[in-house]
Amino acid sequence: MNAHYQQNIKQSKLTAMMISLVILAIAVCIAFYVRNSQTQVLQQILGGHGDRTKITLVNNINDLMADMRAMSKRWVNDNGTTEANWRADAADFNQRIEGVNAMWMVDKEFKCIWLVSVSSSSVQRCKNFMSEPDHVVKLSKAKESQTIEFTEIYDVDGQNAIYMFQPIGKDENFFGFIAIEVKVQMFIDYALGNPVNSGYYTKAYNKEKVAYSNGPELSDSSYLHVFELNMDADTGSWVFKVYPTEATLGLIITTIPYFIAITGAIIAFLFMLTLWSKQKAKYESNRLATEISEKEKVQFELEYLANHDTLTHLPNRHYITNFIETRVKLSEQSQQKFTILFIDLDHFKDINDTLGHAVGDEMLKKLPILFNKVFRHDDVIARMGGDEFVVYLPGEMSESHVAKMVKRFLKSLEYPIQIEEHLIRLTGSVGVAFYPQHGANVTELLSHADAALYRAKDEGRNTFAIYDSEIEQKAKDRIKLIGRLHTANENEEFEMYFQPRYSLSDNQMIGAEALIRWKKNNERVIEPAAFIGLLEETSLIIPISWRMLEHSCHQFLKLLAHHPGLFMSFNVSAKLLEHPDFLKNIQSIFARTNFPPERLELELTEQTLIQNVENSQYILNEVTQLGVSVAIDDFGTGYSSLSYLKNFPVDVLKIDKSFIQDIDSDNDDLELVKTMIAMGKNLNIITVAEGVESETQLKILKHELCDQVQGYFFKKPMRFYDLYRLITDR
Ligand code: C2E
Ligand code: CA
Ligand code: CA
Repeated sequence: MNAHYQQNIKQSKLTAMMISLVILAIAVCIAFYVRNSQTQVLQQILGGHGDRTKITLVNNINDLMADMRAMSKRWVNDNGTTEANWRADAADFNQRIEGVNAMWMVDKEFKCIWLVSVSSSSVQRCKNFMSEPDHVVKLSKAKESQTIEFTEIYDVDGQNAIYMFQPIGKDENFFGFIAIEVKVQMFIDYALGNPVNSGYYTKAYNKEKVAYSNGPELSDSSYLHVFELNMDADTGSWVFKVYPTEATLGLIITTIPYFIAITGAIIAFLFMLTLWSKQKAKYESNRLATEISEKEKVQFELEYLANHDTLTHLPNRHYITNFIETRVKLSEQSQQKFTILFIDLDHFKDINDTLGHAVGDEMLKKLPILFNKVFRHDDVIARMGGDEFVVYLPGEMSESHVAKMVKRFLKSLEYPIQIEEHLIRLTGSVGVAFYPQHGANVTELLSHADAALYRAKDEGRNTFAIYDSEIEQKAKDRIKLIGRLHTANENEEFEMYFQPRYSLSDNQMIGAEALIRWKKNNERVIEPAAFIGLLEETSLIIPISWRMLEHSCHQFLKLLAHHPGLFMSFNVSAKLLEHPDFLKNIQSIFARTNFPPERLELELTEQTLIQNVENSQYILNEVTQLGVSVAIDDFGTGYSSLSYLKNFPVDVLKIDKSFIQDIDSDNDDLELVKTMIAMGKNLNIITVAEGVESETQLKILKHELCDQVQGYFFKKPMRFYDLYRLITDR
């Protein structure tokens, strides 16, 4: 995911960069074009200015020459001139024409005769001047050609100057020459005017020598217009360079191209940045979106886990309690009513114990389908744990309506469910509580539905009960009783009764079963049915059992003194068998009481044995090693197959009294008892019939060769003292 985004962002970065480069290139091109145009325009303007400069210069020089010619013509026409006239003309000429510094009259013999000068040093210079042979040549040439001759440049008082010679007349009318000294700088300056006004500088070279300049030094990059001016062939041509002043250059060659280029670069850069940041933002938002959605997913999963049972995927205890709580709160305003069902599967533990937890789990997993067939979609079904479920039914429901619904549910439960090779039939018990009649809050509602459930179980399971005042009372009683049993334990209000067991072959008493009684307040004797369940639930059974066993051993030893062959039978509950110190405690009781282990028989029900098969096997093997014998109590009522008997060291089977009760009237029961007896014989296990109440029952049992009997027909459970008397009186 991330790599993909990374790749994407890399690609779009590249694209952004390419586009930016194109923008930049376009900007540079435009800048280049503008710059080129500017240069072209400048070259054109320069050309124009160069041409104008050339014309101006040519015109000025021509004017000067025309003036000189006109002067000489006048003098020729006048047949020469007087000194005074000449001087006046010369002074006027010098004055009129800017840059003309001096004027001489040179005679036929090439001698300066008159001079009119702006500076006084000219007299001497003229003499020197005429001594130059070059000048004599030039004068001769002028005389011959009848045109003005120009000299080269001379340095005069640190300034460039040239000389011009004009012949006056020819042949016999030849009078001499007009010679003028022209200061180049002044002459051209005048013609061109101020460069600041024209906007252009001019520089002139003659034979590579700078002859004139009105501007700063030329740099290589300067924009130039070059033209030549050739006034007189033998002095060589003058080269003029015209170039713009800084101001003009600044006007035409502007910074616009740079501006365009820089702007383009900035735009490209910003464009790139924008694209990048946009891309980055997109990437970030995508990343955030996935991050958030992942977080949400985790959050959702956590929430789901917190509120649901992982096995059945039904809402769990946490969810349903919260849910009912909010319903109660909402109902306080809207007076909404609802119903709570507390469901418990009957003997579900036995499925787990006999068929394994995997089968039990599979069974539980199938339940939601079953629930959904009976309950509506706005009912909420939750698993409270184990095989307990709570259903929330919204709206007001009459008792008959609920009864119909619950019956339908119980009926649907009974439908056999196939799991692996097993076909399992379930039943359930249901407790019902209505809001608001049966509780003001979730705790009350659930505990009252649970109390109703107890009642349904009491009534034989596979049924339901609606919470009422009787149940309320029972629930209250139950809580009170638990408290009372704790004090009973502390006050040692328990006592063992003993019920004798007889051999059928000779009607001799062979031993007695120890049965617990509660002497409440040392008055009323209460039978175990009323409290043994609670002792197990509260685990009080453990300390009480150990104490009672030790006490019974003490007592029974007195009997053994008279009849050493008797045995004492003691009931062991599942809680006790699971107790980690079981073996240690039993051994220490033997050690403390000196009770012979082979005189003790432990009675365990099938349910107790299969609750933790490995532990049961281990403990029973260990105790039989000590000499203790093992009896299976309430045999025939359990779920387990008979084959498990082989796995335990069993000495005695106590056939449950429910079979014995109807043995004389119910043929099925008789058949079952016969089978159990036969099986005992096969396995070499002693069979005991419990609950024998009549002679008929006894006769049948005798006929079927049952080994031993126990029941009211012989003796009811009695206090030890009574048993002692019974034995010693014999
Ligand atoms: P159980 O182990 O099956 O004990 C036999 C029960 O049958 C006794 O009830 C006994 O009084 C009763 N009984 C004996 N002969 C007859 C008869 O002819 N007809 C009828 N209807 N009943 C007969 P009890 O003493 O009320 O004990 C009930 C159950 O409480 C016992 O059933 C046993 O499961 C449990 N129990 C009693 N004492 C202890 C004890 O010390 N420890 C444990 N763990 N459980 C005990
Ligand atoms: Ca028993
Ligand atoms: Ca029994």
